[in-house]
Amino acid sequence: MTSPGPLVRFCPVCRQADSDPRHDHGVGDTLLQPHLDCCRSVGCPDGSCPIITSGAEDLRGEDLRSHLTDPTVVAANAEALDARDDETRTYTTDTVQVFLQAVSR
Ligand SMILES: [Zn+2]
Ligand SMILES: [Zn+2]
Repeated sequence: MTSPGPLVRFCPVCRQADSDPRHDHGVGDTLLQPHLDCCRSVGCPDGSCPIITSGAEDLRGEDLRSHLTDPTVVAANAEALDARDDETRTYTTDTVQVFLQAVSR
């Protein structure tokens, strides 16, 4: 038996299917799994992707995954995400709709 690798998913922004790190959006029956950098480029609905990929804009795939799982980076990102103002972090159907429109352009 071979162990399954990271899940392959579809990115609605660049339309590639691979296992690169994603931002999972789930509101109601809408599920989107864009790449972190793709999500950032169309306006991340909860403002987390610009923070999480800060300083790692050029990383993709396994490089990005190991960067994001580095304990120092995890701690710094958690702190930065906590520091977001309430309006930015509020994740509502409206913000997802705006995101969906950006994606479908
Ligand atoms: Zn993408
Ligand atoms: Zn995002």
